[in-house]
Amino acid sequence: MTPTPLAGLLAARIRATGPISLADYMAECLLHPAHGYYATRDPFGQAGDFITAPEISQMFGELLGLCLAQYWLDLGQPASFTLAECGPGRGTLMADILRATARVPGFHAAARIILVEASETLREVQARTLAAHSVEWRPQVQDLPEAPLFLVANEFFDALPIRQFTARAGLWAETMIGLSPEGQLQPGQAPPGPLAALAHRADVPEGGVVEICPAAAPITAEIAGRIRRCGGLALILDYGGWRSLGDTFQAMAQSMGKHAYTDPFAAPGEADLTAHVDFEALAQAARPAATAYTTQGTLLKALGIDTRARQLAAHPRAAANDPLAAARRLTDPAEMGTLFKALAIYRADAPLPAGFDTSGSDRDQAVQGSDTETADDA
Ligand code: SAH
Repeated sequence: MTPTPLAGLLAARIRATGPISLADYMAECLLHPAHGYYATRDPFGQAGDFITAPEISQMFGELLGLCLAQYWLDLGQPASFTLAECGPGRGTLMADILRATARVPGFHAAARIILVEASETLREVQARTLAAHSVEWRPQVQDLPEAPLFLVANEFFDALPIRQFTARAGLWAETMIGLSPEGQLQPGQAPPGPLAALAHRADVPEGGVVEICPAAAPITAEIAGRIRRCGGLALILDYGGWRSLGDTFQAMAQSMGKHAYTDPFAAPGEADLTAHVDFEALAQAARPAATAYTTQGTLLKALGIDTRARQLAAHPRAAANDPLAAARRLTDPAEMGTLFKALAIYRADAPLPAGFDTSGSDRDQAVQGSDTETADDA
C-alpha cells in the first residue's frame, strides 16, 4: 500500500523527536489541516464511512429537540439562551431539532444557535444544511457565551484523542506510536511509570488496558459550569460505558464500497478513528452539576420514538427509509440501543430532564457501576 501523505509527515516527526502518544496520532489523523480525516471530507451518511443516529432518522433529532424544549419550558422559558451543538457533522441533528421545536412558542426567538466545530470543511456543509437559520460557529466550548445553555453532542466525544495505558505491576505503560525497522508506523509501549490520573483504577488486572481522554474533562467542565451558573441542559450521546476498560481504539474506512473496520495505523488521515467514551469520567468532570445516565434505547423509547415512528409510517409521504426499522435500529439492544449511552447534565436544584426518569431493573442494567452521587438515583 502506498503511504498516505500524513504517514510520511508522522514518520519524519517520529524520526526527529521519538514516538508519539495515541492522542497525538489521533489528533493529527482526524484534524490535520491539510490531510486530516475531518478536514478533507464529509464522511457522513449512507455513502460515507459511517452512519450516525441523526443520519439514520429524523426522529433522533426531533426527540432530543423536544426534550431540550420541554426543559426550557420547565425552567420558565429563559428569555435568551444558547442552543449549542458540539461536533455537528453535516448539521442534520440541529436541523431536525430546529424543525421539531419550531412550534414551541418563543423557543426559536430566545435561542442563539452556536455550533462548536473544528473542521472548516464541515462548517461549510453545516452552513448549507442550516441556511434557513441564523447560526454562529465557535472553535471551542470555552467560547460559548455565559448564558443558559441547551446543548447536544452526538458522537462528538468518541472523536476526541485518547491516551492508552496497560497495567504493569502497579505502574502504567503508555501505548506509543513509533517506527518499525522498515519505517512503517507501529504501536509499542513506553516503559511503565506511575500516573496520578489512574490512581483510582486499582481494579484493572495485570495487562489490562485503560484509556483516558484528556480533552473530555475540561470540555465537560466548561459545559457543566455554564449550566450550573446560568441553568440549562446538556445531552451527550455516544458509544461507550460507565468506566473505561479494554482497548477500544478503532478505525473505520471505506473498503470496496462498504464501511469496515481497518488497521488504525495503515492509512493515517483516511480512516475515522474513535474510542469508546468513559461516561464516568464525564459525570465526574460535570460536578457539582447533576448528571443522569441511561442507554440510548431507553431514552428514545421514553421520549416516544415508537409513537413517532408509527405516526411517520402512517404519513402519506412516509420518509424514504422505513421509520419502524429506523426506530428499531436506534433502540434495539442488538443494534445501537445499548452500546450507545446518554448522559444528561443539569443543575442539581432543577428537575430531572424528560426521558431520564428511569427506574427499576432498566436502570440497573443501564447504569453499570454508577456511583451514588449521580442524580438519576434521586
Ligand atoms: N454529531 C454528528 C457528527 C459526529 S462526527 C453526527 O452525529 O452525525 C464528529 C464531529 O466532531 C465532526 O463534526 C468533527 O469535525 C467534530 N470534531 C471532532 N473533533 C473536534 C474538536 N476537537 N472540536 C470541535 N469539533 C470536533
